[in-house]
Amino acid sequence: MDDLDHLRTYVRDVADFPSSGIVFRDVTPLLGDAAALQQCLTALAAISKTFNPTHILGIESRGFLFGVPVADRLGVGFVPARKPGKLPWPVHSESYGLEYGTDVLEVHVDAVKPQDRVLIVDDVLATGGTAGAACRLVERCGAQVAGIVVLVELGFLQGRSMVSPHRVSSLLTY
Ligand code: AMP
Repeated sequence: MDDLDHLRTYVRDVADFPSSGIVFRDVTPLLGDAAALQQCLTALAAISKTFNPTHILGIESRGFLFGVPVADRLGVGFVPARKPGKLPWPVHSESYGLEYGTDVLEVHVDAVKPQDRVLIVDDVLATGGTAGAACRLVERCGAQVAGIVVLVELGFLQGRSMVSPHRVSSLLTY
């Protein structure tokens, strides 16, 4: 795999967003650069393939930006995990704590089945609360969590412990 470290150049640190004391990792510069985006998606797809998933679950909303192209490259289906009230069919709901606040995540009850291996994809793993809720949603559908793949991992927040024992891979660790 190509050296990915230069992708850090395209992740912008925004101090005190969305609230005081938070350093927001803004991936819009990466999305806006054709070469960086292509390299990022190629690397995410290569890592994701090693989890041997049948589905990619993307977390609203930035998880969609990376999850759908990865699913397409792997030739597997995509499942959206959405904020409350957005999905039209019966849902499973899980609440979780964020680095900045609390929220709820939902998936359609029939999104995945017991024989499915579901890989969770998001832009940033911070405290791990969001990814943990996504894992519980997959399990409530009766499916298996294949693991978690993120572009950016904030290692100092120890999000991995929230999703233990599931395997986590990230392209960039801060
Ligand atoms: P957490 O549940 O704490 O792991 O937070 C992960 C979710 O919140 C991801 O969907 C991220 O998009 C978002 N998020 C949390 N912290 C940050 C941050 N410092 N910079 C960018 N996004 C973040």
